[in-house]
Amino acid sequence: MMTKLTGQCQCGAVRFSVTGKPVTAFVCHCTQCQRQSGSAFGMAAWLDQAELHLERGQLKEWIRQTPSGKQMACRFCVDCGSRLFHQVLGSSYLSVKPGSLDDPLQFSPVAHIWVASKQAWVDIPPHCLQFEGNPESVGALMQAWQAVH
Ligand SMILES: [Zn+2]
Ligand SMILES: [Zn+2]
Repeated sequence: MMTKLTGQCQCGAVRFSVTGKPVTAFVCHCTQCQRQSGSAFGMAAWLDQAELHLERGQLKEWIRQTPSGKQMACRFCVDCGSRLFHQVLGSSYLSVKPGSLDDPLQFSPVAHIWVASKQAWVDIPPHCLQFEGNPESVGALMQAWQAVH
């Protein structure tokens, strides 16, 4: 099973660790994730916020409105700008960008969301759940994750 997770930003100024286990991991094809990542999609692994520990470094926060009218805090390294964490304000869950982990291999996504704005050349593996936009709840994503972990 999983050992303690650790990760960092691109420059290494920020390091963090995670106790406990993620509750799900998924890919987001929304245009905001495409723009933020400068790539085809974003990835997210959700954790209980109490399980994330900042070991060193300094984060800056930018807040954006989500399509569902919530506010999402987007946190990144003040030195290199690597986006590391997203959190809908008021939620007890926090999203870590799996590519920032020292061992991202265990974060094979179980779902793809906002498939309606997916880039045409991206193929989704058949075992993954798919949602045209935001899933109505994250329950299905958590169940799919539990089934394979
Ligand atoms: Zn950095
Ligand atoms: Zn997105």
